Amino acid sequence: MDKRVALVTGGSRGIGRAIAIALGQDGLFVVVNYTSNEGAAAETLAKIKEAGGDGALARFDVADAAAVDAAVKQIGTEHGRLDVLVNNAGIAIDGLLMRTKKEDWQRTLDVNLSGAFHCCKAASRYLLKAKDGRIINISSVVGEQGNAGQVSYAAAKAGLIGITRTLARELASRAVTVNCVAPGFIETDMTAAHVQGDNREALLKQIPLGRIGAAEDVAEAVRFLVSPKASYITGQVVRVNGGLLM
Ligand code: NAD
Repeated sequence: MDKRVALVTGGSRGIGRAIAIALGQDGLFVVVNYTSNEGAAAETLAKIKEAGGDGALARFDVADAAAVDAAVKQIGTEHGRLDVLVNNAGIAIDGLLMRTKKEDWQRTLDVNLSGAFHCCKAASRYLLKAKDGRIINISSVVGEQGNAGQVSYAAAKAGLIGITRTLARELASRAVTVNCVAPGFIETDMTAAHVQGDNREALLKQIPLGRIGAAEDVAEAVRFLVSPKASYITGQVVRVNGGLLM
């Protein structure tokens, strides 16, 4: 494979889909990970191809360490390399502390935080051999600021910043850069319930740029961090939030 190979977790829709398309446009071979919605993942791949790119699908749950390991090994075997890992897969199970069930706390951490850990660990053996190895972790404004009703999600997204800064140090000697992109409010399925009606008006008042973000706004930041132009940026949290948090 002459092209750089990227793995985008949770690439079937939303921000992950926009990232997968952007990287495909930039000439990377994009492996689109998904869990259940094969049709949506195939649509992402079709859009990558429409944009002149290429890629493949990989079905696995990022919370399942053995499944991640097997899938990453398969990518390595089939394509001979893995240059870029985008840990985008995420879930939010909201609730105030007193109402947060232990199993919801655990699942949120398993997907958002342990999922990224499993993928970083499995991919590292290939990233270390890459010329421009990259890890991008999709954190959140909530990981930096906290948010009432999102204790598990905030803990996981803050943890991703810890993973990012640690791996930035561990992998720097092999020129692998590791960064976080921390979106604010982005219009996707995840936020659909939060950005309606009165809630939307209240949110817009907090965002200096006066609009909810689009998945493409996040994808553009990832596109840059993945590019060779960003080779001197590592261990950073790049905020894409319309000024919500400065
Ligand atoms: P989304 O719900 O549309 O997409 C999440 C994706 O992750 C889906 O494709 C889903 O299938 C996948 N996924 C969930 N669990 C998975 C698992 N166990 N294994 C593999 N894939 C799994 O939401 P989105 O808004 O596109 O979110 C993408 C990322 O951006 C998430 O990490 C989210 O936390 C983060 N984020 C979103 C916003 C926002 O406002 N939308 C803000 C900050 C951060």
